[in-house]
Parts: sequence; C-alpha cells; structure tokens
Amino acid sequence: MEKDLPTAAPAPQAEAVSLSSPVSALEGIGPKRAALLEQLGLRTLGDLLFHFPREYRDYRQITPIAEVRQGELATVEAEIIGMRHVRLPRRQSLAHLTLQDATGTMSATFFGRGFLVGTVFVKGARGLFTGKVSEYKGPCLANPEYELLTGDEEDLLNTGRLVPVYPAAEGLTQRMLRRWVRALLPLAAPLAAEALPGKLRARHGLPGMEEALREVHFPGSPENAASARRRLAFEELLVLQADILERRQSLRRESRAHPNRINGPLLKGLHRRLPFVLTGAQERAVSDIVSDMASPVPMLRLIQGDVGCGKTLVALHAVAVAADGGAQTAFMAPTEILAEQHAASLRELLEPMGLTVAVLTGNTPDSRRIRELVAGGGVDVVVGTHALFQESTRFKRLGLAVIDEQHRFGVCQRALLSAKGPRPDVLQMTATPIPRSLALTVFGEMDLTVIDEMPPGRQPVKTRRIPESKLPDLYRHIGKEAGLGRQTYIVCPLVEESAHRGGQTAVLRHFQELSEGPLAGVPAAVLHGRMCQEEKDAVLRAFRRGEVRVLFSTTVIEVGIDVPRATMMVIENAAEFGLTQLHQLRGRVGRGSETSYCFLLGKPKTPEGRERLEILCEHGSGFDIAEADLRLRGPGEVFGARQAGISDLRLADLILDARLLDLARREAAALIGKPKELNALRGSPFFGMQRQIQSA
Ligand code: ADP
Ligand code: MG
Repeated sequence: MEKDLPTAAPAPQAEAVSLSSPVSALEGIGPKRAALLEQLGLRTLGDLLFHFPREYRDYRQITPIAEVRQGELATVEAEIIGMRHVRLPRRQSLAHLTLQDATGTMSATFFGRGFLVGTVFVKGARGLFTGKVSEYKGPCLANPEYELLTGDEEDLLNTGRLVPVYPAAEGLTQRMLRRWVRALLPLAAPLAAEALPGKLRARHGLPGMEEALREVHFPGSPENAASARRRLAFEELLVLQADILERRQSLRRESRAHPNRINGPLLKGLHRRLPFVLTGAQERAVSDIVSDMASPVPMLRLIQGDVGCGKTLVALHAVAVAADGGAQTAFMAPTEILAEQHAASLRELLEPMGLTVAVLTGNTPDSRRIRELVAGGGVDVVVGTHALFQESTRFKRLGLAVIDEQHRFGVCQRALLSAKGPRPDVLQMTATPIPRSLALTVFGEMDLTVIDEMPPGRQPVKTRRIPESKLPDLYRHIGKEAGLGRQTYIVCPLVEESAHRGGQTAVLRHFQELSEGPLAGVPAAVLHGRMCQEEKDAVLRAFRRGEVRVLFSTTVIEVGIDVPRATMMVIENAAEFGLTQLHQLRGRVGRGSETSYCFLLGKPKTPEGRERLEILCEHGSGFDIAEADLRLRGPGEVFGARQAGISDLRLADLILDARLLDLARREAAALIGKPKELNALRGSPFFGMQRQIQSA
C-alpha cells in the first residue's frame, strides 16, 4: 500500500478503509479513545457506523432570547459578546458567556469547561446553544449543548437540528461520537452492502442502505429517522429470520433415527386407558405429533401451553408411538422432583401396558445399573434431568426425546440436534406462552403447536395481596381449611437465612415458627432443594396423599408439580420473584374443580415489584402475563441472555417491532430457495454481527 498519500486530496483514503478497519483509522481517534470505544464493543469502523442513536433531541426550533422562559428547553442563536473563565474551589472551573441576539441578552455557563474560554469560545463567534433555561442574574443556560457556526449549515451536529443521542460510556461524550460518526458517514456508508433486493424495498417503502445510515444518524426530519430505523431494523430481523429458516431447513434434511409405527397397539391402548376426555386443543396437539412422527422427517415440535393445560398427557402419546416402533424415549425434566413426578404418572399409564419406566438423575443411587439397562434396551422410557444427556448415557434405540419446561433451552437440546447421525424425534414443551412471532424466533427451528384450552371445570385462581395486619386471619383460615382436608403451599425464597439477602423469609425458620405458632397441630412438612432425593420423595408422596396438609417449600415446586387437591398458595416476599416465576408458582393450585387462592405476602421494595404483583392479581392468563413480563424485562432477560442472538440485536426490538418481525419472517420464507437473493442477504452488515454474537 502507498505510504505517502498526497495530503491535499483526502479521496484516496476512501480506498484504504473498509468496514473492518479499526476505529483508529478515523482522524481524531488514537489508542486512548479506541480503548474507550472498545468499552462499547466498538472496534471497527463498521461497528461505529452501526452504533445507532438511542434517541433524538429535537433542537430545530430557535427561540429569540426575549422569549425564552424559565424552566423550558430552548435553543438560541446568538453571538458571544462577553466571556469569563471563573475559577472555583478544588481546581474546578467554569466558562461564563454572555450571549446576544437581536432581541436581547442572556448568559450561559459551562461547568468544568473554563478551558474553552479563549480557545473554542471567542468574542464575536456565533453559535447555537440549547439547554434548560434557569435564572442567574437574568435568564441563563446551564451546561447547554452548543455548536459554533462556521457559515456551513451542513456542519450542525449538536444543536439546531434533530440531534442523535448515542449509547455512550465513561470518557466518551456525545459530541465526540457525533463528530466521529459524521466524519465516518461519507467514507463508510457507501461501503455498507445493499443486501435488500430493490423489489422488496419498493414493496415496503424502505430506503436504500446508504440513505438509511445517513438518516438514522443525522435525520432531516422525524419521518426520515423513523423510515431509516424501520429499514435497518427490518434488515436485522430479516437476517435473523433467514438464518433461522435455513437452520430449520437443514435440520429437516436429517433422517429419523428409527421408523415409527403409527396406530400400533400401545397408542390404541393408551387411548382406552386415558383418565379423561382430551380437550380439543390436546386432541389437535396429539394429531400434530402423530403426523410428525408418521413423516420421514424427524419431529421437531414445540408444544406451548399455559400451566395446567395438560401437556404431559399429550407427550405420553408420543411416547406410545415411539414404543410401538420399538424405540426408547428420553424424557427430560428440569428438576429431580419433576422427573419423579413424571415417572410416577408415566408408570401409571404405561406399566400396565408392559413398558418399563426408569428414573435417572444426578442423585439416582443405582445409576450405573440403570445406565446399563438403558444401554441394553431393558428400559423403554427413562425420565431424568439433564444429567441424562450430560453424562453420555447410551441408548440401545433412542427414538424420541421429550423435553419438558426447559425454556432455558441449551445443553440437552443442542446436544440432541447436533449429534451426528440419525436424529430422534424431539418434542419440547413450554409453559411460557410468548407471542407467536416471538416464539417462532426464539424456538425458530421448531414447529409450533399452541394448547389454548384448559381442561373443563378449571376456575381462575383468586389472587390477593395480604397486608401484614391480616396475617393472623390468613393462618387461622389455612388451619381451618386443613381440618377440612384442603392443602396449602407456603413458598419462601430461601432455604436458610443468609447474610446478604437478609429480611427474606427462609423456609426452615418459617416452618418452625408457624408450626409452633399459628399453625400448631396442622400436619406440615418442608421441601427444599438441599434435601436428598429420598427425603424429597417422601415429603411429596405424603403431600400427594393428603397426609401433609401444609407444605413449606422453596421454589423447587415452581415447575410442574401437580397435586390437584392443593387449593391454596401463599407466596412470601412475593415481590422478590419474577412475574413468570410467580405465575408458575401460582399454577400449582387451581388444578382441580374447587376454587383456589393465591396469597401474595410482603411489601414490594420497588415500583416494579409492586407492578408485578398488580399484574398478577389482575391477570389469570399466562399469555397476558408473559406479555407484561416481556414489556417489563425484555426478551433477553426472559429467555436468558445470548440465546440465538436475540438479546443482542442492534436496533430491532422483538417486542416493539412485532409487526416488522412478522413481515421479516414472511419475506425470509420467500427468500429461502432463491440462492441469489440469499447470497446478497449474507452480505448484510447485520449478518456478520449476529454470527459474532452467536459464537460468542
Ligand atoms: P402442564 O401443561 O402444566 O404440564 P399437566 O400435564 O401437569 O399440565 O396437567 C395438569 C392437570 O390437568 C393434571 O392433573 C392432569 O391430570 C390434568 N388433566 C390433563 N388433561 C386433562 C383433561 N383433558 N381433562 C381433565 N384433566 C386433565
Ligand atoms: Mg407440566
């Protein structure tokens, strides 16, 4: 490369830089500032170009000085007619300016910026100053945004226009970021590939890439900003969706581990033995599953349905189909307790038909023997936690994997899908009823069945907040109900009192206090995650049988525990839990035909905590609650960070841009099978970014 570039003509520099050049390729960015930018994850010019404003300030309106009002935001265009460098204690300084326009004078102060006097601020200079008007010997702007006018309107970056506000970091000012981005735009914006086909852009009225980049950073109008943002967010979502659809397609090219036999004796037998009539939604789910399992492509289906809608029974049908074909099932539960429970209900229906069910968790005492049985084909269904997959359990003939309530995805699913060779059918179940387009993104490679109907006779759980003064009444009520055979869960956040989360109710102490106090004489027991498996089993069994009337528990009962006779749920320090978790906990009651209650205890410490409890009291549907949760916390938090790149989108918001997401999904589907256009899309600057994120 040529070293001695002619200094007069800057043009050749454009050839030298690319989007992957380091930020230091930009004038004014040395190693120190490059390090500051690195804090924001900005290493290359492309990163900086795609570092989008978080909002804009509208500083277009210019107010004559005579008309500025105290307390209001104003932009004035004025001449500097006087200035002082004021020294303050502790080596602080202040720049004090006197500004004048045709209608009057006012002052402006810049704290800590004394050094600007005589260097940047000079007498006679004209500029735009934007800030909140205060009063200090007449109207005064304190620490305003400013821009000195050079006569070239184009140069306005910091005021007198729609001004971008960037996510910034310690040591980086908005002024710096604006200046760099402005300098970068003419160099780098033309280098950003146009990845969207012209027809597609025309169809949705999307501006070209170069224009979008210009307008997203320094918009000529709010409409331009919105349109630029829409184009970029659309492209980002399109890239994400196309990627998901391609992954989905390639998964569908793999072949099934073992052929299934549809309508075999076990499926028929299961039908005869069903303890209830399936709901319409359960029927539909079963028929989706059966047709998946009949097809030559392995099943990859997500069953989404609110807590208590009866997903387990649906999954049993898949187990029966696999077993009819002589294949084994791995049934994954998120906790040991739930694994035990599933095993119990599977045994009840499957063992009479001659199938064997085993449990395998991290704590199974005779796990060696069980592993041997599984490997030898002596077990038809093995129920377990993810130990099932981590510890390289070998199956003789694995045909189906059922994954329950594992919306924090990950390990086992990836292990299953990336396993070389023939693939088992995969059925995943989740109680997180997220909006459809979002589900199709988060669980993008799967087919989706929604169970949107509850078994008959369910009543909404009456949910109330209970103030401390009413606690004696509550415990008296629980005691009385216990005498009538009704059962209660009391959930506490902790096992033992701990120093750093003091004030939260610990289950052991609470158990002791209540069973020696207001609940004396009521058969009660404790359940928590630090107990060994036998202890847990014994307690749950006693609760299930009704011998234990009040179960003190930590959140180990959160997922899936099913004791239809329990009708009351007390949640201590309720505001400490997340919304989805609260809904899951509440889902432990309201499973029978009797009216159930959920009592929320404790005073919320934050407004968000209060809001969570209010949402829970108002809404019974998991769908509404999931939406509210997504609004409050965002998808990154709800689904666990760094999942399929969804939490790291640069611009698009999976919730707020739901309609754009739908559109992107449809367009992505249309692009699949058009190699030329897909290839162009792979050139999208967003493509590389998501790759980086996913592999990070
Ligand atoms: P989830 O979808 O939360 O996993 P479960 O599978 O645990 O729900 O089912 C919740 C309860 O509803 C269980 O007690 C189950 O036996 C019962 N149930 C399931 N399907 C039906 C049905 N069609 N009619 C009546 N009760 C049902
Ligand atoms: Mg369940």
